[in-house]
Amino acid sequence: MLNLWDEAEAQQFSKDSTLGLRVYSSQLLGRNADLVLHGGGNTSVKGVQINVFGESEEVLYVKGSGWDLQTIAAGGFAPVRLQHLRALAALPALSDTDMMRELRLALLNPSAPTPSVEAILHALIPLRYVDHTHADAVVAISNTPNGMELLQQIYGDDVLILPYVMPGFILAQQVHEATKDVDWSRLKGIVLLHHGIISFHDDCKSSYDAMIELVSAAERYLHELSLIHI
Ligand SMILES: [Zn+2]
Repeated sequence: MLNLWDEAEAQQFSKDSTLGLRVYSSQLLGRNADLVLHGGGNTSVKGVQINVFGESEEVLYVKGSGWDLQTIAAGGFAPVRLQHLRALAALPALSDTDMMRELRLALLNPSAPTPSVEAILHALIPLRYVDHTHADAVVAISNTPNGMELLQQIYGDDVLILPYVMPGFILAQQVHEATKDVDWSRLKGIVLLHHGIISFHDDCKSSYDAMIELVSAAERYLHELSLIHI
């Protein structure tokens, strides 16, 4: 899988403070149909915003629903209070309807798009940039009878592999539980079986690079397998 990052292009985007590079690498992910088939995938960046009372608030800018990664602009990212999202993650249960209401309630701008249903999951990952795709190669391997073992062979300790659960609050809870004792600095990504993959880093390019590297490893495995069977 090609890494499409272009430093000159990135510099054009980085002129726009918090969201510039986030917009750029989201578009790069969106350009690759093998990562985001069927409009899937979402991205986020964490930052700080000063509210009308002069207080600074931690914010998660997460892809809004209805936006396509390939064409996303700064306005496609919904600014959500991180504190609110973290508090939601600690609840014992939350229905889909209640979660969607809470996501809109936690917006810093009422006219922003509705945050992705995976917003709480993004909030729980303590790194600044989070990239999530439904990469074909990773999903294809995970959809085999021994998918979990194969992915463990491919990634070793670099990646946390989690069984499938419904996207939304249940998935956020699962990641919350599974990562309580995790050393984030040693982890390159999380694979969600039958669903997709997540990469993260405090640096935008490093998070994008990790996504391309992890998906490329899955593609190489599939390629070698197809050579054996020819
Ligand atoms: Zn997803």
